[in-house]
Amino acid sequence: MRILNQKGLTIAVDGYSSCGKSTFAKEIAGKLNYKYIDSGAMYRAITLLCIRKNIISGETINKKALELLLSAADIDFRFTETRNRHETFLNGKNVEDEIRTTGVSDYVSQISEIGQVREKMVNIQRRYGKDGGIVMDGRDIGTVVFPEADLKIFMIARAEVRAERRYKELQGKGVDADFEAVKKNIEKRDYIDANRKISPLKKATDAIVLDNSNITVQEQMEWFEELLRELNYEN
Ligand code: C5P
Repeated sequence: MRILNQKGLTIAVDGYSSCGKSTFAKEIAGKLNYKYIDSGAMYRAITLLCIRKNIISGETINKKALELLLSAADIDFRFTETRNRHETFLNGKNVEDEIRTTGVSDYVSQISEIGQVREKMVNIQRRYGKDGGIVMDGRDIGTVVFPEADLKIFMIARAEVRAERRYKELQGKGVDADFEAVKKNIEKRDYIDANRKISPLKKATDAIVLDNSNITVQEQMEWFEELLRELNYEN
């Protein structure tokens, strides 16, 4: 592992679904005063657009229609005062809640397999990261989006723990979810994400693994601070 230099770092956080990547990545970004980008939200926004425009029929996606949608799609993150956080906007409208629904989760991995979707998302993601000082979480951040990232963290957690977390998260939002269905969705997404041809989910060879099955967010932050110390990074 190389010693980090003292500029705004590029930090990639990858891993399986519901590993707590976004919670951890947000905490890191807050601590370092960096930008945080949830790349999954971008794939979710495109999927929402596909659902709204009716271009998914079972396992089939109308690629021609998708191409047109993609060329006109505008995805960005804007600060919303009411919730005191950045939220996802699609073509100028706040879609933060809608992209988290099970309807979107059911199709997002199918849409994310498509080359033209990935190409557009990766271009936007690289633009966000061009000046460093960024924490981005996803599936291919350390392998494809920022292969030269200063720090790559690959998060893992036991499948049961992940399903439980996702289930509680949905319940917390008042969504009437079924535990088995949530678990199946996670397993299905993980399978598609890890086995797709383009940019499959995998650990970058130089990524550091963080297993958070049995540790709290505070313990993860202690782990991260220790890591920064080991790498001689002064915040
Ligand atoms: O992170 P989240 O679970 O919200 O991501 C939703 C889906 O978006 C993933 O299951 C995956 O199919 C896709 N995704 C991806 N590449 C990323 C981030 C997310 O393919 N960098």
